[in-house]
Amino acid sequence: MSLKAFCVHGHFYQPPREDPFTGIIPIEIGAAPYSNWNERIVDDCYRPNAEEGNFGSLSFNIGPTLSEWLQINHPAVLKRVIDDDRYNFDHLGAGNAMAQPYHHTILPLATSQDKSTQIRWGIEAFKKCYGRNPRGMWLPETAVDVETLEIMAANGIEFTILAPWQSVFPTLDPGLPYKVKLEGNRYLTVFFYDRELSSNISFNPGITANADEFVQKYLAGKFSTAGKDRMVLVASDGELYGHHQQFRYKFLKQLFHQSLQKAGIKSAFPEDWLKYQPAVESTEIIEKTSWSCMHELKRWSGVCDCTPHPEWKKPLRYALDETAKILDGIFLDETASISQNPWTLRDLAIHARELNFNLQSEVTELGGKMLKQPEVTRLYLLLRSQFERQRMFASCAWFFEDFDRIEPQNAVKYAANAVYLTEKATGQEISKGLLSAFESVKSWRNGLSAGKVFQDFKERVSAI
Ligand SMILES: [Zn+2]
Repeated sequence: MSLKAFCVHGHFYQPPREDPFTGIIPIEIGAAPYSNWNERIVDDCYRPNAEEGNFGSLSFNIGPTLSEWLQINHPAVLKRVIDDDRYNFDHLGAGNAMAQPYHHTILPLATSQDKSTQIRWGIEAFKKCYGRNPRGMWLPETAVDVETLEIMAANGIEFTILAPWQSVFPTLDPGLPYKVKLEGNRYLTVFFYDRELSSNISFNPGITANADEFVQKYLAGKFSTAGKDRMVLVASDGELYGHHQQFRYKFLKQLFHQSLQKAGIKSAFPEDWLKYQPAVESTEIIEKTSWSCMHELKRWSGVCDCTPHPEWKKPLRYALDETAKILDGIFLDETASISQNPWTLRDLAIHARELNFNLQSEVTELGGKMLKQPEVTRLYLLLRSQFERQRMFASCAWFFEDFDRIEPQNAVKYAANAVYLTEKATGQEISKGLLSAFESVKSWRNGLSAGKVFQDFKERVSAI
């Protein structure tokens, strides 16, 4: 008899809402009685799901920036999540946590070096959090191109999860994993989620009111084709389970602990599934696709129907791309005498935030020279600048409908901070040449310009 298995993947993530000046999330009125949305979502979703033990059965990824926030603000909640992954890893030889590129960047819109940095930082953050190497990686918005998969595979990642329409085959069997062939006889495994079920779980709250009914009415029929072992997979935002839809952590508990067993369906997750059911079939992916925009990633770079009045998005992408180009040029010039491989040197930027970080010993390990004190100071500032320059590309800046929101304004503040830090390191004036690009990004609601946000932040930080 063929094996029937079901996997629920939750993508847990929150936009970076920390003010780069203070490092803390400002009071968010809409989240009342909580001080900000993260706090509210902890009580709605993260804590109850952890307490119910759901993180032991879900397949999940928690964005590294959210994990770090949880580590500081709700360490007991994060510990339960980590312990559940560890339990699976120790008992099954496979964990159910997946990694994620660090800043939730739309990787097909990023440079090759940025793809590498984001993927390597995501892996580093995962190792630090879960104490093991990741085997799977969730891509922000499931946005994909072949180069991204190549870099993931080169860094030891074995699988990801995509939407079915991201495959060139219109008639995939969504119960089976597929190989995507890469250069040098390598491949990366892709699990395609079930479109109908995932959409229903996300947008039709009625079907997750009762897990027994869900299994009988919606899931059981997915296994009607006899023969191969199948793992049907659904994917959604993790915050669905308790925050977007109230009390849905109870649905998950009932599903994992009763309803699936009663129907003879195994609860499963990709890393464990691959031990027994490696991908046999192959497919190719359609580049520049995602799960939340059907218009070649224009939601994050141009004009499409995903949001009304999207005219501000392309200029914002242009302004940030120009900022990145200028900062990278200076970074390469400044570090040419220090290291043969400046991009590997840049990878240190994620560690440069840690208290026990020793810049000289890290530079030496990379084959770099002994630094004089002014060079150490300068390199620190440049690495901090590069961290902000990575952070400004978090996809949330473009996701919503207007520039006058915290997410796009934060992206501009991170850009201003990156520019400020490089100016401080080198004495070069960069801002003036970038202002006209930021000035052309305007809120359609109230005319607020990114130029004003950029300048206001620069003045604030320069006054310290
Ligand atoms: Zn779109």
